[in-house]
Amino acid sequence: MDKVTVIGAGLAGCEAALALAKHNIQVDLIDIKPKNFTPAHKNPNFAELVCSNSLKSQRLETASGLLKEEMRILDSVVIEAAEATKVPAGDALAVERNSFSEYISNKIRHNKSINIITKEITEIPQDTGFYVIATGPLTSNSLAKNIEVFFGSENLSFFDAAAPIVDGESLDYNKVFWASRYGRGGADYLNSCLTKAEYERFYSELINAETVKLKDFEQTEFKVFSGCMPIETIAKGGYDSLRFGPLKPVGILDHNNKEKPFAVVQLRKENNRGTLFNLVGFQTNLKWNEQKRVFRLIPGLEEAEFIRYGVMHRNTFINSPRLLDNCFRSREHKNLFFAGQLTGVEGYLESAASGLFVGLNLARMLCGKKLQPLEPCSMIGALANYISCEANANNFQPMNSNMGILSPLTERVKNKQERYKQLANLAIDAVKRWRNNEI
Ligand SMILES: Cc1cc2nc3c(=O)[nH]c(=O)nc-3n(C[C@H](O)[C@H](O)[C@H](O)COP(=O)(O)OP(=O)(O)OC[C@H]3O[C@@H](n4cnc5c(N)ncnc54)[C@H](O)[C@@H]3O)c2cc1C
Repeated sequence: MDKVTVIGAGLAGCEAALALAKHNIQVDLIDIKPKNFTPAHKNPNFAELVCSNSLKSQRLETASGLLKEEMRILDSVVIEAAEATKVPAGDALAVERNSFSEYISNKIRHNKSINIITKEITEIPQDTGFYVIATGPLTSNSLAKNIEVFFGSENLSFFDAAAPIVDGESLDYNKVFWASRYGRGGADYLNSCLTKAEYERFYSELINAETVKLKDFEQTEFKVFSGCMPIETIAKGGYDSLRFGPLKPVGILDHNNKEKPFAVVQLRKENNRGTLFNLVGFQTNLKWNEQKRVFRLIPGLEEAEFIRYGVMHRNTFINSPRLLDNCFRSREHKNLFFAGQLTGVEGYLESAASGLFVGLNLARMLCGKKLQPLEPCSMIGALANYISCEANANNFQPMNSNMGILSPLTERVKNKQERYKQLANLAIDAVKRWRNNEI
């Protein structure tokens, strides 16, 4: 009888364990809880929501609504628990957090195929058994150190220092233009030139904008791990500090008037398709609504759609574009699967969905079939495709669910609502095909 060991009983680990158990695979589920806790976990139950109690919008034409529907089709325990323990929250799905964790923990405890083991795993197992490693953004230090040794220190990050990402379609191409500094290499960057007046307005709003408060444990760790400073902190160093940093006006002429600009913001392709762009050097701790307000002051970004906001927080994640395939399996060690936030998917639902997909797919493989990726026109397939293939391995930053990572429609649909509706229909069909073994 095949057995799988799932390490980490968080959102991803619980989904993976229950999906495997449903297919009569024996599971050892290992967690340091309740003997020990990471700095954010407090509840002895599994699948703990460490911060917000919201699983975001339920509307199908939103990325998180679509992700929920895909998970529902795949019989997700997180969605089942959320529906059983929900509290009123408008069109969002929010839960009573203790009941939510208790609901999932009871399902695990009463499942005869799952053997719960309380211990800290400090090394990636080297035997030939099947493992799902899902120890999350706060993976314990000894295991994180071992992952560094196992895969190389360049392939593990301890901190998110992510700049915002915007949708290329939402930029004003009368104002932004392709070029690279001093014309070196290809014209690989989109550039936005600021006049002195534009810079002054942007600068003044940036230094006065509201920031997110770091958690206590993050404040110390942040100093140790973070190599890069938030843009607002650089700005507070003085009026010209940005012009000597990420907004330096050198090597670029304004395409509109051929003059030397006062400051330049550069945007770099975030995915191979070139549909998403990050704002170079804009790692930030600004609140999300403030990012939208302040960064939309940059010429050409007035209507920018933020696919992902900039964040700076503690987060352990591997370099999935180098290490994993689109089934979350190690490219080199075929018995090792990873799931959850450790893989670079970001968010409660994204983590849970990856665990669900890994559990179902591994069960499929152990039942004698082939591992099968999910098509990237589905949200789960797109996340898997993004972290394993689409993202830039040299600057890999985690990704949450968003409509910008789905395979584009074959024909352009200008109306956003209609476009999202069509994308959602394709996604749902793809997940059903995958579930029914039709692909
Ligand atoms: C402080 C903080 C706040 C967050 N807030 C939100 C939010 O509001 N909304 C949102 O969508 N996302 C949030 N996230 C991001 C993320 O979605 C959640 O952390 C999510 O729980 C990740 O799921 P996971 O299964 O990958 O990891 P987790 O749910 O963290 O589960 C990992 C499990 O592994 C165990 N473990 C760790 N190391 C070991 C080891 N060596 N051996 C055995 N077990 C181990 C842990 O005890 C834990 O039970 C937050 C993250 C953090 C760190």
